[in-house]
Amino acid sequence: MHVLEVRDMTRRFAGMTHPAVDSVSFRVEPGEIFGLLGPSGCGKTTTLRMIAGFESPDNGTVLIREREVVSLPPERRNVGFVFQDYALFPHLSVLRNVMFAMRGTPARLREKRAAELLRMVGLTRVDQRMPDELSGGQQQRVAIARALGADPQLLLMDEPFSNLDVALRDATRREVRALLKEQGLNAILVTHDQEEALSFCDRLAVMNAGKIEQVGTPEEVYHHPRTAFVAQFLGRSNLFEGEADGEIARTSMGALSIRPAAHGRVLLSLRPEHIVLTKGCGGELEGEVVAREFRGHDLTYRVRYEDRSIIAHTEYTHSFYPGQRVRLMAREPAVVLRDMNGSAALVPGEAHG
Ligand code: ATP
Repeated sequence: MHVLEVRDMTRRFAGMTHPAVDSVSFRVEPGEIFGLLGPSGCGKTTTLRMIAGFESPDNGTVLIREREVVSLPPERRNVGFVFQDYALFPHLSVLRNVMFAMRGTPARLREKRAAELLRMVGLTRVDQRMPDELSGGQQQRVAIARALGADPQLLLMDEPFSNLDVALRDATRREVRALLKEQGLNAILVTHDQEEALSFCDRLAVMNAGKIEQVGTPEEVYHHPRTAFVAQFLGRSNLFEGEADGEIARTSMGALSIRPAAHGRVLLSLRPEHIVLTKGCGGELEGEVVAREFRGHDLTYRVRYEDRSIIAHTEYTHSFYPGQRVRLMAREPAVVLRDMNGSAALVPGEAHG
């Protein structure tokens, strides 16, 4: 049984030329943390709000554990919410904030259960404090404990980590993921941060302009992007046009292995970490390093090859400098991108990162 099924959901706001959410469909399986990832304005929050019941779809439907919920108000959908700004009650202690949500628990058991939830999110000694006496990460954990207090079938989280500073964000993210997994809870995370979506979610939907462009595991969407948008939104990518003949395509970077096999004109994506740079001149694919960016664990280069700029990553042990001549080689097949209808051969594109 699916925990959630969203079918063909559309929402149009007055004054917008395109729907904010356009025929979106996806499913969340039991125990899964599902991500909605995309740039600002692509419709992530509106999708989440329609699942929660704060917003109604113009078309389509939402099923939670196979029950249609579109006509139900938010409090009858059995979902919990965690927002970016924590939204704790400032005049209630931490414990009372968590107890507040426990409508389903008999009054005499609420305090014990709230204390348990606070322990579960790693907050044991702050029960009696007021929200403004806690750090941002602690407040967000209280918000999660409060959301879990109502015993939801599904936890909806809208950019829950984005108000935390970097160090706290990483740690809170790891702890929350571990907690959700330990408890076997289902959750949907809305985020515009690719790294967050890749590391936090079991599967994710990449959204663009109201539509889902691809659904898959983090590895699938990263290594096998279906569209140019997905390839470029999830990290950097070099795009090439080519003429495909089975598993090989002729491109401006020479003959490249491609996957999946295709025929005719195709648009290809090659990740910067799949390009190897070696010293020296000679060979067909010779370029010049024009920029170098040290990023700690690796180095990113821009290499001018003929009239193109190609982006490549190397390990920190391989160092090149602007002006140096290098040879380029692809060490993985380039990925054949598809259009939204699933057919190969796409828009013309220049190689860029
Ligand atoms: P962000 O990450 O910036 O929150 P998002 O992907 O969550 O973006 P939404 O908030 O879902 O995007 O918004 C999608 C589009 O719908 C945007 O163009 C937004 O301006 C518009 N929109 C959202 N809510 C309303 C509303 N109540 N009335 C009119 N337009 C709206």
